[in-house]
Amino acid sequence: MKKVLIIGGGPAGCAIAHQISMIGNYNITVVEKSNVLGGGCKTLTMGGHPYTFGPRHFITDKKYLFDFLNKYVPMRSCAEHEFKAYIEQDDEFYNFPIHEDDIKRMPDYNEISEQRKNSKGPAGAKNLGEYWLNSVGDILYEKFIKNYNEKMWMVDSVNEIDTFNWSPKGPSIATGKGKVFSDKISAYPIKLNGYDDYFPIATKDVKVLLSTEINEYDIENKTVNLNDQKMKFDIIVNTLPPDIIFNFKLGKLPFIGRDFYPFVLPIENAFPKDVYFIYYPGKGKVTRCVEYKKLTKYKSKNTLIGLEVPSLSNRLYPLPIKKYQDLADDYFKLMPEGVYSAGRAGVYRYGIDFDRCIDHGMIIAKDIKEGGGGHGSVLNIDPTGEQKRIAK
Ligand SMILES: Cc1cc2nc3c(=O)[nH]c(=O)nc-3n(C[C@H](O)[C@H](O)[C@H](O)COP(=O)(O)OP(=O)(O)OC[C@H]3O[C@@H](n4cnc5c(N)ncnc54)[C@H](O)[C@@H]3O)c2cc1C
Repeated sequence: MKKVLIIGGGPAGCAIAHQISMIGNYNITVVEKSNVLGGGCKTLTMGGHPYTFGPRHFITDKKYLFDFLNKYVPMRSCAEHEFKAYIEQDDEFYNFPIHEDDIKRMPDYNEISEQRKNSKGPAGAKNLGEYWLNSVGDILYEKFIKNYNEKMWMVDSVNEIDTFNWSPKGPSIATGKGKVFSDKISAYPIKLNGYDDYFPIATKDVKVLLSTEINEYDIENKTVNLNDQKMKFDIIVNTLPPDIIFNFKLGKLPFIGRDFYPFVLPIENAFPKDVYFIYYPGKGKVTRCVEYKKLTKYKSKNTLIGLEVPSLSNRLYPLPIKKYQDLADDYFKLMPEGVYSAGRAGVYRYGIDFDRCIDHGMIIAKDIKEGGGGHGSVLNIDPTGEQKRIAK
């Protein structure tokens, strides 16, 4: 029986283990550093209030991914959700991303219109700052974009961020009903324990080593030192930042992390009815604030809020900067046949969410089933090429 090692037991590691175990006839081991499976999508509680580290609702443009997870973790739609931004300059809450209807009610509407009329448009923009400035003009750029991106990515200037297909551009100005992701399925598990039932189901035919870290990696030879024992595998799937499994030999890949502050307020609902998230593009440290019972539908006289503050205390968001992506690509090139890298950190792409983790599992399992040959970032072996296109 061929031996498979999966490094990391978050949504990606579990979904990949699940898909490979469904082929049958593989001896699969998942190694997870913490004492639970589920990574960032594991449900936590405070005073009985369920929450996750940052919102983890299920958003996808691929119905088959929703249908797949929904079989194991029945979900309800949360398509009614609205995201707001607090704009200090106007002391006002507007839709986020920027919405045409809100611009009309801004005190400086006339100047904004003038700037938009005269703006060059995003074509040819050399960086994210230029992209936005040339799209929306100076006033909207200052209100919504500049500070937000500088604190989100912890850079001195938004001009340090490149414009990829996957960089945080969003639609320049949204129109229509003002609901976010109206073109996608947006859902959340019905049960209060969120996605937690999925992780043991996904790994039921798999050996799971919790509270375990690999002591030493020799990826070129598909060998690792696990619990002080040298072990060789036929297939390795990594879901960690790829620099870790190569002992940082080409240099460290930068990531931005989050400090997360949950707290409970003595009020049944803190945000207006359909408002789930509030973003803070101003100078204050917070980037996003989430009222969790909007997602979980937990019933209580109190409500739990989670604040997110960018930090370097963990490695969560790959940076949308070309030179770092190139460095990640150099790590992928070191991976021999049968070594895959998947999940958000594993492919070093912002925008890889839970749905894509399941897709990564499906793509890797298909590649293995068809005789393998794949290696490196899973984005490079996506048979439809779709993942590669969105991720460039
Ligand atoms: C703040 C925030 C909010 C998000 N919100 C959403 C959202 O609303 N919807 C959505 O779909 N996605 C969201 N995401 C994206 C999210 O990251 C993915 O949905 C999903 O968690 C990615 O799964 P993963 O397995 O790649 O990574 P993770 O969930 O980070 O899991 C990685 C796992 O590897 C383990 N690990 C780490 N180091 C080691 C080691 N050395 N050895 C062994 N194991 C190790 C970790 O303990 C963890 O269990 C959000 C991300 C962040 C950071």
